[in-house]
Amino acid sequence: MTSVILPTYNRSKISFVRGSGSWLESTEGKRYLDFGSGIAVNCLGHSHPKLINALNKQSKKLWHTSNIFNIPMQEELAQLLVNKTFADNVFFTNSGTESIECAIKMARKHYFDMGHPKKNRIITFEGAFHGRSMAAVSAVVPMMKSNSSSRLTDGFAPLLGGFDRVPLGDYQKVEEAVSDNTCAIMIEPIQGEGGINVVPREFLFFLRTLCNQNDMQLIFDEIQCGIGRSGKFFVHQVYGVKPDIVAVAKGLGGGFPIGCCLATNSASSGMTSGTHGSTYGGNPLGCAVGLAVLKEIFSKGFLSDVRRKSSWLESALQKLLSKHKNIFEDIRGLGLMLGIKCKIDNAKVIEKALEKYLILIPASDNTIRILPPLNVNKEDLREGIARLFATAEDLERGK
Ligand code: PLP
Repeated sequence: MTSVILPTYNRSKISFVRGSGSWLESTEGKRYLDFGSGIAVNCLGHSHPKLINALNKQSKKLWHTSNIFNIPMQEELAQLLVNKTFADNVFFTNSGTESIECAIKMARKHYFDMGHPKKNRIITFEGAFHGRSMAAVSAVVPMMKSNSSSRLTDGFAPLLGGFDRVPLGDYQKVEEAVSDNTCAIMIEPIQGEGGINVVPREFLFFLRTLCNQNDMQLIFDEIQCGIGRSGKFFVHQVYGVKPDIVAVAKGLGGGFPIGCCLATNSASSGMTSGTHGSTYGGNPLGCAVGLAVLKEIFSKGFLSDVRRKSSWLESALQKLLSKHKNIFEDIRGLGLMLGIKCKIDNAKVIEKALEKYLILIPASDNTIRILPPLNVNKEDLREGIARLFATAEDLERGK
């Protein structure tokens, strides 16, 4: 059957009808072990009883009122986020891209209001991914480089200006890119789409210092790596580096579309009445689920459990690597956001794993992402590793 949906995704033919915990069931009744979590979204797995309960309860009371009214549930979720993070305030969105849009506007508006309208350029990094809006794609491929063959940007010119891209981890290039017109540095503390590239702590500290010295905002995109995935609520909390603005989404709703932009009072000072908005952002349904997700993530022992499972998984992956050096090259990542760089085509490994009913996610740099639900149990982790070994053995034997 031909689909009437735009073919912007190269979709697998598999469809799922239901999910429970770390497992998905296909239309053909096959059970798949989900080590992708909808690309770091289903942080509490599928059909978590507390999320179902929160959504059901709220759905019977009130779905939507518009942000022209006070939304108590939104206040409650925002207060929890502020209590647990660097932030003084919150803007709610429906997706990661929207959180990035808010972050970009916020950084520029701060300096505009301070009387520096030309201080609007943002330094970004090679290999980054910030979403698909015009600003988000322009952020990763500046106009100067529009001849680079990128499906993100080709054909969408004119791109938006104001971004200076530099190589990840290159201290000198970052320093050279800073000018009086730079208002912010925007970085994913762990690049997700780029291939699970963990940014070293020293580099993040260096960016913080540079921002302090040159009066610039430090923006972290924690859309994929945040909400407990690193074993702390945010990656920057693992390192102790304080941002000015953080973009959040994915795990925040555990599958319900909600995101947010967190900021300090100073960074967000320009975002006054009428400067930004969203029809759905932070509506009662989304906030009810977001609250249920966060209560779970912040429950006693949850994040330390993520760290324990991460150590176990990482050492199991190291064993996989040393046994199958023809197939795998490197293991990297933090918490339950791990990547395996492959020597053979990563798509082949993912396809073979799928034949063994194990879901993995591709990334750039010939990498495979392993993103199980954060509440995955030890038995399912062992099962996933067993399927990965079986996948590699088949590939070694040319099966
Ligand atoms: N930023 C990062 C780091 C992401 O991983 C993504 C999505 O994969 C986005 C931004 C865009 O988020 P969304 O697809 O929810 O708009």
